Amino acid sequence: MSGRSLFAAAGARNIDVMTRMPCLLADPDPAPGRMWLTNARLFDGTGAPVRPNAAVLVEDGRIARIGDAAEPAPEGAAVVDLAGRTLLPGLIDAHAHLFAEPPSPAEGAEPLWPGVGAHLLAAGLRETLRRGFTTVRDVGSYGDEVVTARQAMRYGAFRGPRVLTCGRIVSASAPGGRFFDGMYREADGPDEVRKAVREQVRRGADFVKVMTTGARSVELEDPAPAQLTRAEIAALVDEAHRLGYRVAAHAEGIDGTELAIRLGVDTIEHGMYLARRPDLLDAMAESGQVLVPTLSCYYGVAGIDSRAGGEAASWTPPLVELALRNLEEAGRTLTAARAAGVPIALGHDWQPFSDAGIELRRMVHHGLSAHEALLAATATGARALGLADRLGTVRVGTLADLVVLDADPLTDPAAVGDPERTWLVLQLGAPVAGTALGPGQVGSTRAAISASARTAADSRPVTHTSAAHNGARPVSGTVVTPGCA
Ligand SMILES: [Zn+2]
Repeated sequence: MSGRSLFAAAGARNIDVMTRMPCLLADPDPAPGRMWLTNARLFDGTGAPVRPNAAVLVEDGRIARIGDAAEPAPEGAAVVDLAGRTLLPGLIDAHAHLFAEPPSPAEGAEPLWPGVGAHLLAAGLRETLRRGFTTVRDVGSYGDEVVTARQAMRYGAFRGPRVLTCGRIVSASAPGGRFFDGMYREADGPDEVRKAVREQVRRGADFVKVMTTGARSVELEDPAPAQLTRAEIAALVDEAHRLGYRVAAHAEGIDGTELAIRLGVDTIEHGMYLARRPDLLDAMAESGQVLVPTLSCYYGVAGIDSRAGGEAASWTPPLVELALRNLEEAGRTLTAARAAGVPIALGHDWQPFSDAGIELRRMVHHGLSAHEALLAATATGARALGLADRLGTVRVGTLADLVVLDADPLTDPAAVGDPERTWLVLQLGAPVAGTALGPGQVGSTRAAISASARTAADSRPVTHTSAAHNGARPVSGTVVTPGCA
């Protein structure tokens, strides 16, 4: 089968396997009852301008109606007055590596126990939710920590974002397999690649991730040549799509990036040289393949820290130099992709993974409008994940994963992901984080949201938390960010 015909076939797919997605199976119970979020500035993720004086009815964890603040509250609904704050869909990080870098104990301090990493990962996930990111796509982490954490959340151990995972990254036998021990499933030849896909499904993956090129974070890897052959990538895409799973490709050099695009991969991760190939950007725009630019990774490897006076590069000098060049290329590609109409999703690709808001600021710095960057963090992120019918927009029927910001993110994008200005985070209608819940109030969601809410005419108390009945403890501002990266 030629690449072209595979490409056309991929464009015609219409996968609907939502109920089998492990990330959805692990969702907490939706909050029962009704909530009327009123006096909102609504950014709904549809591309429409912000709507002032809006109101949104949440019912049993879903958006039931979009209305106007002048309307009376629906019967039986708990009323939350947003007082002009901005209401937007829960944020989505489409490219995260969900692991916490463990601290290095000082000389003489006791060595770390093996289980510490899992606790640090849980703390990072709680912090991610506190910053308004309600869904995160894990594109490669170590061992089985992520599926373990997801299962812990499923059974109520703690609250964090919805997690999609690729399981292991499928890669050719390559130096990265030594660098990232436990993150890769090395496979050579179409049959073994096909088996590697099946293994990830067995592990509980939501999608398949493949290294179509080497990585600029590995000094022994050359990102220029394709790392797998056309036949191997075609087998991987065919097997994943045949089983109903989407494919994300690590794609740096043009050769591997072109194969990924032509063979129908769903999301192109990095893709920083695409501005050199307008024909490939046009092909992506036509097919709806999503670009995830991951600017923060170049900042990270180059040692640029825009937050606090700079940060010395700790990477090997050739990779630092490459990262600086790649940042320029990625900036050019971001604006070229936008001009070509390529869908663009936000992916942070750096540590600590909870700090994904910084990627949005960088997307704006490198040429997107704040509105476009917010779409990348919401609707297009959901599209990248294959969940656009449920996530990323505030429309009737979508899941009530919502964020209320104590700022206007269109004029102040730095507010996105800032825990101090994240007033409220709703997960399937349950208030789980935000300054409205008060500082240090873990477990007191019910009381806190009651304090900030007026109930509608029937004066029923606010009961919008599923914490009580599923055992999960809601989260507020007590989580300490692990000292990663
Ligand atoms: Zn990455």
